[in-house]
Amino acid sequence: MKPVIALIGRPNVGKSTLFNRLTRTRDALVADLPGLTRDRHYGEGRVGERPFLVIDTGGFEPVAKEGIMHEMAKQTKQAVAEADVVIFLVDGRQGLTPHDKTITDFLRKSGRSVMLVVNKAEGMRYTSVAADFYELGLGDPYVISSAHGDGVTDLVEEALNIAYASRPDEPEENLDAAKGIKIAIVGRPNVGKSTLVNTLLGEERVIAFDMPGTTRDSIEIPFERDGQQYTLIDTAGIRRRGKVFEAIEKFSVVKTLQSVSEANVVLLLLDAQQDISEQDAHIAGFILESGRALVVGVNKWDGLQSDRRDEIKMDIERKLNFLTFAKFHFISALKSTGIAPLMKSIDSAYEAAMANLSTPKLTRALIEAVEHQQPKRKGSIRPKMRYAHQGGQNPPIIVIHGNALDAIGDVYKRYLEKHFRETFNLTGTPLRIEMRSGK
Ligand code: GDP
Ligand code: GDP
Repeated sequence: MKPVIALIGRPNVGKSTLFNRLTRTRDALVADLPGLTRDRHYGEGRVGERPFLVIDTGGFEPVAKEGIMHEMAKQTKQAVAEADVVIFLVDGRQGLTPHDKTITDFLRKSGRSVMLVVNKAEGMRYTSVAADFYELGLGDPYVISSAHGDGVTDLVEEALNIAYASRPDEPEENLDAAKGIKIAIVGRPNVGKSTLVNTLLGEERVIAFDMPGTTRDSIEIPFERDGQQYTLIDTAGIRRRGKVFEAIEKFSVVKTLQSVSEANVVLLLLDAQQDISEQDAHIAGFILESGRALVVGVNKWDGLQSDRRDEIKMDIERKLNFLTFAKFHFISALKSTGIAPLMKSIDSAYEAAMANLSTPKLTRALIEAVEHQQPKRKGSIRPKMRYAHQGGQNPPIIVIHGNALDAIGDVYKRYLEKHFRETFNLTGTPLRIEMRSGK
């Protein structure tokens, strides 16, 4: 499991600046998709070989009793409870405020490991910036500048040391040993995740139910179906009781993120007997952000009237229209219908996510696209795309080289994406396009 770092602090101390630096926010994710509920608060980062998840908790008002601030405080509390380390950010230019003290009290009660971090300290002396904050009783403050990057790498390394030290029994990464396609099943409570897992495993040959090395909460189940191997990884929201899986009532963003980030393909379950909720859209949003391949299962399709079926299809089209790359399946986990085609889509989404795209083929596809339609000039500047190579898998990243590529707009990027998708049959996976301009 990747360690989880939560960023907390009052508004304007620089949390999102730090968040963006830690996650190096991937603007390459093809443009802003219309309708996408962008949840910029969750992301993945990496220092050296060590990956981690980071949560930006937004503005925190621990005393709010109701309304949006109360809701945010609730989510912040959950994030803190589930984090391995909390980075508590304060503003070195503004100095200590009463609000910082309130947050300190809350964090102390939470019992988490807290790192007190003074931000906006570029060009300032350690002693003078730090002095103000000893009063909080959280030890020597770390001093950084999120905007300039000073001290940020050291800070994260220290955070990860603390995180790993707090879970000494766990191997840092054993998932690469997992067999076949790694699947995470996610969705809000009650959509049918545990029912589906039981259905899948009941039908299939479970290779080894008890794998050595699986830890307390973690579920890692290899199974085989029609000659294809899969590993069901740490599916958030369900727990194992004997040979059967059952639902956990509480929805955990952090656990969902963790399972998504460790999967090759995410199976997002929706409940056809309910409307698509904001929570569904949020989950879909961060699956997209994570870059993992995606298949959507619209569950509980059994026993629905046909007008309800039409209704839910329209609801999906309206609210999840940013998931155009994913295949949707209408299934019943309970009655075990629609499962075989669903698994086929998982296979092909995996293949697409892992595709090997050679430079000559990509370049040919690029030239075709440009011949068919040139990017617009921007003033007197005409962007010139020269060649493309593959920069990564799961998701496939296509790096386009040329001149003045900054001038290429979102609409044209979407056009390119569509062209690459069609040319290389990339269904089921997000696709990232990066532009690299020479001088
Ligand atoms: P958040 O509300 O805690 O997420 O804060 P933001 O990241 O939005 O930052 C609030 C303001 O502080 C913005 O104007 C940032 O540009 C600025 N800021 C963030 N980090 C630094 C820093 O390291 N140094 C300076 N001077 N300003 C910063
Ligand atoms: P989870 O919280 O996502 O793990 O959801 P569960 O698997 O516990 O399912 C929640 C409820 O929905 C249970 O009462 C299930 O029996 C029911 N359910 C799950 N799948 C289906 C389905 O395909 N059809 C119908 N009608 N009910 C289902």
